[in-house]
Amino acid sequence: MYLHGTSAVNERGNLTIGGMDTTELVKQYGTPLYVYDVSLIRQKARGFVDTFAKHGMKAQVAYASKAFCTVAMLQVVEEEGLSLDVVSGGELYTALQANFPTERIHFHGNNKSREELEMALRANIGCIVVDNFYELELLKELTEQYEQRMPILLRVTPGVEAHTHEYILTGQEDSKFGFDLQSGGATEAVRRALEAPYLSLLGVHFHIGSQIFDMTSFHLAAEKVFQCLVQWRDEFEFISTVLNFGGGFGIRYTDEDIPASPAVCVEHIISVAKHFTHIHGMVLPEIWIEPGRALAGDAGTTLYKVGSTKYIPNVRNYVSVDGGMSDNIRTALYDAKYEAALANRMKEEKTELVSVAGKCCETGDMLIWDVTLPSPKAEDILAISCTGAYCYSMASNYNRLPRPAVVFVENEEAQVVVERETYEDIIKFDKAYKSVVRNNER
Ligand SMILES: *Cc1c(COP(=O)(O)O)cnc(C)c1O
Repeated sequence: MYLHGTSAVNERGNLTIGGMDTTELVKQYGTPLYVYDVSLIRQKARGFVDTFAKHGMKAQVAYASKAFCTVAMLQVVEEEGLSLDVVSGGELYTALQANFPTERIHFHGNNKSREELEMALRANIGCIVVDNFYELELLKELTEQYEQRMPILLRVTPGVEAHTHEYILTGQEDSKFGFDLQSGGATEAVRRALEAPYLSLLGVHFHIGSQIFDMTSFHLAAEKVFQCLVQWRDEFEFISTVLNFGGGFGIRYTDEDIPASPAVCVEHIISVAKHFTHIHGMVLPEIWIEPGRALAGDAGTTLYKVGSTKYIPNVRNYVSVDGGMSDNIRTALYDAKYEAALANRMKEEKTELVSVAGKCCETGDMLIWDVTLPSPKAEDILAISCTGAYCYSMASNYNRLPRPAVVFVENEEAQVVVERETYEDIIKFDKAYKSVVRNNER
């Protein structure tokens, strides 16, 4: 297993994160356990922010909170001076509870409800990224009703595919997200937005996919977007003061993944923006980006306890752990690949090819199909790295498993930032049913 951030191996042969022995964390907080390396989150955040600063660029780096949205995470993100993307009333509520500065909150989503838009207006957030005509009309009506100005971006679909897993593409033309550039939908949206008295159109947003390694996809998407910016300048005298390149920067889950560092991603985006503004004779807009996975992903490690094993000769060796798709659905959903290690036996030779299964009643409940480990036995601690993004945030109570606790570690200290759920929590919203069957139906 690749050791990200502060992860290391101590003299006892145990995995440590943030200077904390993971086997001690397990003793104290139980399993499964999400452990976050806070200094790695900070390092990534600074990589993005400092690179814009180094180039003297006006920019906003907005953490896409859907990757991992808890009060503690948003506090760290705030401390590092980032902005924040939310995609629902629940994420916005979490941000408000974390005292996140509202002017740095941006609201995304392809089907924001009237209540969610009202909540965003009441909180007076920094920007709403308008996705479609229904939302544009609704927001126009609400801002007129409240006589409240709201900065907006228009999300456009440039029709460019990012080179990544098919299921997580959003930039192609056939997408539920955004105004279409090709068909003229985006142009009509710009026209209507400019006419709306209380909407301040700052510019456009695009997001072309996730876990992107090939940075040329940003160049291709920007090329299409700039063609439209030129058209809108000529047609409406509209100047985009903000250009939001979205997120999607890839991370290293396994050694098949070769990601660019945050600094290199930012350098690339700056050069793309400079290139197109130069050839079209435009002023450089403020650049916004929205990393989610690249901030939270490799900072997270999940610790499990090994239980049963099932070795089928010449077929497969199953090793089951005390979590599964309920705390990490990405393998089942996206065929995601992970690396793992036995956190209590880091120095032992890896001799056995195994498949790590969850405990959910579902054949597809697998965490890793192939990983080589020292022959695992019951009570070993299995660590899966790079589980910081889209694991806790997609966790469920399937099979009525309580969701695990989340622990932040930094400088030899550990703090629980999300409590482990209890069985009482699981039935908290259940109500007994008073049967209304009639006697004659028995
Ligand atoms: C999901 C999402 C992001 C973040 O994507 P990552 O792959 O986690 O970086 C950014 N912007 C938008 C609009 C998104 O939907």
